[in-house]
Amino acid sequence: MSELVIKNLHVSVEDTEILKGANLTMNTGEIHAVMGPNGAGKSTLAAAVMGHPAYKVTQGEVLLDGENLLELDVDERARAGMFLGVQYPSEIQGITNAEFIRTAINARRAKDEQINIMEFINKLDEKMEVLEMDQDMAERFLNEGFSGGEKKRNEILQLLMIEPTFAILDEIDSGLDIDALRVVAEGINAMRGENFGALIITHYQRLLNYIEPDFVHIIIDGKVVKTGDKELAKRLEAEGYKGIVEELGLDV
Ligand code: ADP
Ligand code: MG
Ligand code: MG
Repeated sequence: MSELVIKNLHVSVEDTEILKGANLTMNTGEIHAVMGPNGAGKSTLAAAVMGHPAYKVTQGEVLLDGENLLELDVDERARAGMFLGVQYPSEIQGITNAEFIRTAINARRAKDEQINIMEFINKLDEKMEVLEMDQDMAERFLNEGFSGGEKKRNEILQLLMIEPTFAILDEIDSGLDIDALRVVAEGINAMRGENFGALIITHYQRLLNYIEPDFVHIIIDGKVVKTGDKELAKRLEAEGYKGIVEELGLDV
């Protein structure tokens, strides 16, 4: 079992403090959802944990099995088992999807354990079928000309291929039609197991009808203000954030 601990995390962007002491602990075998109003700091949390240079950590720790991720470079964090599925995946010309994924897999493996080409192709075919993706997407340049939904499926393809220990998925459901949403959810559910944990950032309870979270956290104004189970997400859907703000007496 692995444990990811986000401890008293303070993060500034361009000298404005966005995260103001966020705490969150998760273990493999668990799916956590993070919800919160626009601008609460959800994407900032994801970016800071993965080491985006624009997000400056001023206080706190992010521990993966006791090792402080904040002291590692981005690629070292990936090698340690972290994966980030971003809200707006970049298009990269000149490198195919398949090459990108194979490089990412091999970066996490020792020199004498690199993935064999046949094993790679078979696995890629299998996962693309799960995600109902066209085979030709493997040979296209990374995300280039992909529709919004295709980009999101592609993030999940990377997830299924790379098999990280912990995945942070930022608004993986935004802009998806109901079929794509179901496929993306199936992909994430296929990863469920004792060696995998996910933090799913979402605005909508809708996704959580497909991926049942073990825990739901609410971020307001840079802090995790409440943690509950899936019923908490339903409550939010019904009453918005106002009820929580009042219940906790938050000054926002
Ligand atoms: P959420 O994902 O919860 O909607 P974000 O973490 O994206 O919120 O943003 C929190 C706040 O930080 C917002 O006020 C946003 O404008 C600001 N912010 C986030 N990223 C940047 C950035 N790269 N440059 C400037 N401001 C940013
Ligand atoms: Mg947002
Ligand atoms: Mg966001």
